[in-house]
Amino acid sequence: MINFEYTRVSAVKAAIDALAKNPAGGFIAGGTNLVDLMKRGVTSPARLIDINNLPLKQIEENDGGLRIGALAINSEVSENEIVKKNYPLLAMALEAGASPQLRNMATVGGNMMQRTRCTYFYDTTMPCNKRQPGTGCGALQGYNRMHAIFGASNKCIAVHPSDMCVALAALDATVTVSGPKGDRKILFTNFHRLPGDTPEKDNTLLKGELITGITIPKNSFTKNVHYLKIRDRASYAFALVSVASALELDGDNIKQVRLAMGGVAHKPWRLTAAENFLKGKAATIVNFQQAATIAMKDAKGYGHNNFKLKLASNAIIESLKTASALS
Ligand SMILES: Cc1cc2nc3c(=O)[nH]c(=O)nc-3n(C[C@H](O)[C@H](O)[C@H](O)COP(=O)(O)OP(=O)(O)OC[C@H]3O[C@@H](n4cnc5c(N)ncnc54)[C@H](O)[C@@H]3O)c2cc1C
Ligand code: SF4
Repeated sequence: MINFEYTRVSAVKAAIDALAKNPAGGFIAGGTNLVDLMKRGVTSPARLIDINNLPLKQIEENDGGLRIGALAINSEVSENEIVKKNYPLLAMALEAGASPQLRNMATVGGNMMQRTRCTYFYDTTMPCNKRQPGTGCGALQGYNRMHAIFGASNKCIAVHPSDMCVALAALDATVTVSGPKGDRKILFTNFHRLPGDTPEKDNTLLKGELITGITIPKNSFTKNVHYLKIRDRASYAFALVSVASALELDGDNIKQVRLAMGGVAHKPWRLTAAENFLKGKAATIVNFQQAATIAMKDAKGYGHNNFKLKLASNAIIESLKTASALS
């Protein structure tokens, strides 16, 4: 039995102060990831700071776009009428995640902060540089079917498991955070990081900082969008590969396009080169195939996950086809 303290806060400043006083502690929101990690001994915070009473549950649109508080519940975001109408890609990605029960507990901030599902990370008898820096990477020479094909390092080949974050990366969201040194904003695509030599760091949040919310700028991606998630089961399974596609079409001309992938890297993987190729071109299968070739240029498999190379390429084409309503 590992003891820990528990405290509940109702103001952002109180949450930040509570963590500053006890840096070995941690925030708890829905608890759907953190409690599992504690039960398995992967993490053992000395104090849990329950942030569920913070006034960070808003889902509201203004001239700047959509503002979602860090404690908004995943199912409330995906079922929100403004989100469904004006930001349907986000609603689709959220609906593809976990199960209804989990989505009813999981928060936006917690979803962003969830840890990798690499089985070696969860198994405390195995080496893992992310859990215990310097012990090695069990997955590199081990069973790596779920692992990265982009941006990995020789220290870690894990992937970020979130679906929601793939849509947020595609939609150019911004993260707002508060910490002991004040408030700041982080571009969503800069929030999660690649493993490099420090895979223990999942993101660019500084010590003691709290995510307060995200903002998605207004956009025209209301009609031709698609989130394609390929997984081992139809529900309640993490992505082997996922693709978020958003197109703004003028006839069959692609005026604007956003593309990001999940299940392929340590962070949501934005396909900028493929976007640049598609912009101004016709929405045709041939152009989508060419975009997929460009997107997959630097992909690399590690053995058991080699199948992802073909799967990811096909998923890009399929998602773009569906988004543009090509049959
Ligand atoms: C069986 C199962 C299947 C799942 N399948 C999927 C799936 O297919 N797709 C998917 O995307 N997700 C999936 N999930 C993950 C689920 O979405 C996450 O567990 C959930 O989003 C985490 O949110 P939470 O509020 O419960 O976070 P918690 O568990 O409370 O916290 C997670 C981490 O975030 C930190 N944290 C929470 N809020 C903040 C904040 N505001 N600021 C700073 N740090 C914060 C906590 O300190 C903790 O480290 C699955 C989970 C399970 C258990
Ligand atoms: S891939 Fe990353 S998380 Fe998995 S064992 Fe290697 S270091 Fe750990």
